[in-house]
Amino acid sequence: MTYDSANIFARILKGELPCHNVHEDDIALVMMDIFPQSRGHTLIVPKAASRNLLDADPADLSAVMPLVQRVARAVKAATGADGLRLMQFNEAPAGQTVFHLHFHIIPIYEGVALGA
Ligand code: 5GP
Repeated sequence: MTYDSANIFARILKGELPCHNVHEDDIALVMMDIFPQSRGHTLIVPKAASRNLLDADPADLSAVMPLVQRVARAVKAATGADGLRLMQFNEAPAGQTVFHLHFHIIPIYEGVALGA
């Protein structure tokens, strides 16, 4: 599968579309998910152009994973969540809807169903 540079996250990275930006550096943009599955649902979007994990450059993955951990820790501290899910989907049959690599940090609250 090829990378489509007109995908919505590529357009957000280029500043063509708005987002609720909570952090940006040379490696990635961190933003709030527009349709959160729980309070504090956060996305880490690497700046390197790849469709998903399957075609990502391992060097780019090495660069972004420490940030994923930092965001997970920050989201847990900020939300008071009881736990977190780290999610990442590859291709439409697996649930991917935006075809630019990204990681979901989804806070979990005891007794609260996702999407509630
Ligand atoms: P996935 O491709 O991993 O299934 O999920 C894409 C995620 O991006 C979804 O959780 C969806 O709510 C989120 N999303 C889709 N469009 C936008 C957008 O324009 N802005 C933001 N912040 N999130 C988006």
